[in-house]
Amino acid sequence: MAEAESAEPDAVQVDPGALGHGKLRKLIAYATKVFHLQSMLALVTDTRHKPRIQTALVAQIRLVVGLLRIRSFNALEPQLAEPWMQRALGLHPKSGKLCSVDALSYSLQRMDEATTRQACVRVVKKAERNKVFREGWFGAMRFVALDGWEPHCSYERHCPACLTRQVRVGDKIVTQYYHRYVVALLLDDKVEVVLDMEPVRSADTRCEHGEHDVKGHEGELTAAKRLVPRLRETYGNLLDVLTLDALYCNGPFFTLAEKYRFGVIAVAKKADNEPLKEALSLWGNQPPHNVVDDEEKRERLKLWDVRELQTLSSYKGSIRVVRALAHNKDHATAATNWCFAVTGKATKLSAFQVASAGRARWHIENTAFYQFAHSWHFTHVFTHGGNALASLLWIFFLAFNLLQMFIYRQLGGYGRDRGKDPTRTIVRLVDEFNADLARLIEPLTWNTS
Ligand SMILES: [Zn+2]
Repeated sequence: MAEAESAEPDAVQVDPGALGHGKLRKLIAYATKVFHLQSMLALVTDTRHKPRIQTALVAQIRLVVGLLRIRSFNALEPQLAEPWMQRALGLHPKSGKLCSVDALSYSLQRMDEATTRQACVRVVKKAERNKVFREGWFGAMRFVALDGWEPHCSYERHCPACLTRQVRVGDKIVTQYYHRYVVALLLDDKVEVVLDMEPVRSADTRCEHGEHDVKGHEGELTAAKRLVPRLRETYGNLLDVLTLDALYCNGPFFTLAEKYRFGVIAVAKKADNEPLKEALSLWGNQPPHNVVDDEEKRERLKLWDVRELQTLSSYKGSIRVVRALAHNKDHATAATNWCFAVTGKATKLSAFQVASAGRARWHIENTAFYQFAHSWHFTHVFTHGGNALASLLWIFFLAFNLLQMFIYRQLGGYGRDRGKDPTRTIVRLVDEFNADLARLIEPLTWNTS
């Protein structure tokens, strides 16, 4: 799924004063000037015949729903008739609703997921060409966290792509339906964007894809093994190192990562499993090999390090193992213990850098997944079936990515002024968007013509 390079020249840094008044107007103006947002949304297609509402407008409404954190289609329905909502979509208000939420659902279920992904990916690639992401982080490398995420589960609503599990409810065992995706998040200390996602396939979906002798749903690792080659294909040399949880700490995954030129930093948890078993045995009772005071985090890190382990028959390369024991200087809490298996180009990092990048993996859970569920209502089942869920997620990820870039590239000290918690910063900004809506007298500008 290679992405065509845009022939447009890179946009220069936009003068914030030229974006107009009000944070929402500024965001849409920024996304329009830099990313040609409306032409990105025009890429989105669905299979409806002679639709009364254009697919690009469906995508645009979904994007605004994401940006304003509207929590459900029920909440959206009356708002589609409000003058401010129509102005937020760049339209001059007319009487009556723009469309019904049923029409939105109908389009979403028939949406071509690949085109929604393409819109999101093109924005990230454009941002990369505009040097939004700084030149690497630790050791001038770029890090990507991969992790499994369940946007929702239900006991009732389901589709052929749903995964299933048996759970106890009271004294009964019942079937729970859910979807799970492996999500790739670019890690940084500021701008963190969703790069890609891949569904964990249900047994039905596997059969649909032509697999034989299907015994059940696939696992997260299998989905991740499709995602890793696609990350390299889509983003070229932008990405260097995958940071992962303990599920990925195994030889076959290290081998795959190496094939696609990714270094790996994976949590190593099981003390009786290689390569951690060998490392612990070599370290024995040795004192730490290095002690680093991290004043920014108010931590003292004790580090142990061993290189060139070859303890996995399923991985031909050598593995480095780093252990970090972190003591908080301000609180008398117990020290936290971290061990990481490290391969490929990630072995060039110092032990301190390995520990820092490995621990940054938690951003995907604390910043991204937490926000998606608690602030963005991504986990609300807006609509189900067909391609609806994946298409919806891609448009929400587009909204999430645009917000991240807008805050840190265009609002300057906005994030700093509101403390270091990125979730709080974004929640505050969305409050300002909602306050702006009532003051919208003119439609927002969504196109550059
Ligand atoms: Zn489903």
